[in-house]
Amino acid sequence: MTAYLNGQFLPLAEARISPLDRGFLYADGAYEVIPVYSRHPFRIDEHLRRLQQSLDGIRMANPRSDAEWKTIVGRLVAEAGFEDQAIYIQITRGADDKRDPCFPPGVPPTVFLFAAPLLRPGAEQRERGVAAITAPDLRWGRCDLKTVALLPNVLARQTAADAGCAETIMFRDGYLTEGSSTNVFAVRDGVILAPPQDHLILPGVTCNVVLELAAAHRAPLDVRPIREEEVRAADELWLTSSAKEVLAVVMLDGRPVGRGPQAGRPGPVTRRMHEWFCAFRDEVMRHGRG
Ligand code: PMP
Repeated sequence: MTAYLNGQFLPLAEARISPLDRGFLYADGAYEVIPVYSRHPFRIDEHLRRLQQSLDGIRMANPRSDAEWKTIVGRLVAEAGFEDQAIYIQITRGADDKRDPCFPPGVPPTVFLFAAPLLRPGAEQRERGVAAITAPDLRWGRCDLKTVALLPNVLARQTAADAGCAETIMFRDGYLTEGSSTNVFAVRDGVILAPPQDHLILPGVTCNVVLELAAAHRAPLDVRPIREEEVRAADELWLTSSAKEVLAVVMLDGRPVGRGPQAGRPGPVTRRMHEWFCAFRDEVMRHGRG
């Protein structure tokens, strides 16, 4: 598998960084994951814009122009041995010759990319939906920045896996934030509910596609803080992310989501949104732009 490290393309197994790298010592870095369908990057401009916002938020200069990022991504996409990919980009504040929290002057950033297979939900998960658990959101106050400081996300995700669930949905001060690696939507009485994109959640690229699709199809949409009780009483819940796309949550903390005969099954609004998403994705991919 080919990787890119600090200006060089090389086999992933040969890529090496220093143990003094600030990504390793301090999680001092930002990252992105760009989905690629049939070797076409999806929404690359939006991912590069979010990368810029993350770098600005942690006071790091962007080491490449958008044109340079696209050239590097293009070569990795072309050389990968699989069609559908997740391009991982990570930039850290580099490796100094000592361990000092202050920004090291004159030290070049570490720039690392590689292509992995895009792990999309299987047919059964897609058809039946997934189970999720809930937990308090213990992260810091800038969850809008996509930094590599992911330990709370890792622990939340492992807790879900230990419970045989796909995701942990988090609440802060009684309000929905997001999943450990997903944005969360709820549906109540036919209205799609989404939390506002403030400092407490990541502005998901997939989430924004879904918000655009809701507007384009004139689906009732309410973007506002969502109380924990509203999530627990929702008719439908779904997750979005670059890998999961639109994925129904049908069990929450062991209880079926929704009411009546529909309970515990992907609901009609979720199904429709997934169809809109697939149609949109296929359309933009057909025209070679994302
Ligand atoms: N929230 C968090 C915490 C995430 O890690 C991700 C995955 N990057 C998302 C939401 C979804 O973002 P996207 O749709 O851009 O993949």
